[in-house]
Amino acid sequence: MWNWVQGSFRLSGVTLLVLALCACAGAPVVAREEGQKLRVVATTGQIGDAVRAIAGDAVTLTVLLGPGIDPHTYVATESDIRTFQRADVIFYNGLHLEAQLERVLEQLGRRGAATVVAVAATLPADRLLRWEPEEGKTYDPHVWHDVQLWQEVVGTIRDTLIAADPTRAERYRSNASAYLAQLDELDGYIRERAASLPPERRILVTAHDAFGYFGRAYGFEVEAVQGISTATEAGAADIQALTSLILERRVPAIFVESTIAPRTIEAVRAAVRAAGQEVTLGGELYSDALGAPDGPAGTYAGMMRHNIDTIVTALQ
Ligand SMILES: [Zn+2]
Repeated sequence: MWNWVQGSFRLSGVTLLVLALCACAGAPVVAREEGQKLRVVATTGQIGDAVRAIAGDAVTLTVLLGPGIDPHTYVATESDIRTFQRADVIFYNGLHLEAQLERVLEQLGRRGAATVVAVAATLPADRLLRWEPEEGKTYDPHVWHDVQLWQEVVGTIRDTLIAADPTRAERYRSNASAYLAQLDELDGYIRERAASLPPERRILVTAHDAFGYFGRAYGFEVEAVQGISTATEAGAADIQALTSLILERRVPAIFVESTIAPRTIEAVRAAVRAAGQEVTLGGELYSDALGAPDGPAGTYAGMMRHNIDTIVTALQ
């Protein structure tokens, strides 16, 4: 009896370890019946767009954060938790983007009930922008704003789907190639549009600091009222600092974001006006979430095109 119990204990210890390793490596851990669709959850619309393009109707996809939803402050509902628990594969951005969801997702990954992948956290560290390492938030999570960097993430999503559902590997590979080719075109389009602005006009002022990767990739200086997360409110000093910069540099336009109330950007605009200058509202950018599914910014490429078109039109 003693030996049996010990043996059994040892076996479950090994099994648990294997499950944990499988979850980390992104390998399939959920047995499915032949022909059954993978249940995939994506937190953001950007990730969901890649899953849809690669897997189409071969998977059942749930995208958690719809248009206008701020991922930095979003808290999971009971229904979200049930969705997570039923999933075979969960993709989230990571790097502290979904700050309130990260713990539960990490736990699910460790338990091995699903393949859980923080897609942005798989990128090489030397391609990431630093955030606040001293507070445990090492890298800026807004990686999708650099199309070439996002293409790496798309590769991770493809490889994870193939590992979880190898019978459809060919289909996933070929769809991913077509999608990546579209993203090549998208990247070229953004570069071309950005280059049409004189360098001194490439200054992007937004509500929160989501465009660091965009600025690095496409040659813009970026400034924002709030920091990289929206979890901390902007203060009077933030508004004053930005107002001074706009006055000094004679910035022609500033931008609101679809996931953030426009009041801080409006406060900056009012302060600029009080100082005797005008700065226009350049339009609404999609920083952290896609637009409505049937609208022009309802896909990742649509979001990125909308942003560069809006920025270039307002700053030229
Ligand atoms: Zn953000």
